[in-house]
Amino acid sequence: MGCGKSKQNLLDEPINEYYWQSRNDCCICLDKKSNMLLLPCNHVCICDYCCRDLIESNFSNCPLCQQEVYSCNLLQIIPAVPNN
Ligand SMILES: [Zn+2]
Ligand SMILES: [Zn+2]
Repeated sequence: MGCGKSKQNLLDEPINEYYWQSRNDCCICLDKKSNMLLLPCNHVCICDYCCRDLIESNFSNCPLCQQEVYSCNLLQIIPAVPNN
C-alpha cells in the first residue's frame, strides 16, 4: 500500500500551516529558521531578516494565511531551566 499514489498538486491546496510549523523554516527565504511571531494570526513562519524586508516594504499580510499583520515579534528561546 501507499504505492503508485500520484503526487499532489500543491497549487490546488492551501498551504498547510503545520507544514511550515514542523519544518520551522522561513517560508519566504526557505533558508533561515522562522523566528518571528506575527500578530494577530500567531503564525511563526518568517525569519527576522525577511520580516525586516516586509516592514520596509510596508508590512501587509501574513505570507501564510494572508491575514493583515499589525505586529511582529522576535521569538526568543528561553531555556526552561529552574533558577535554583
Ligand atoms: Zn526568511
Ligand atoms: Zn498568519
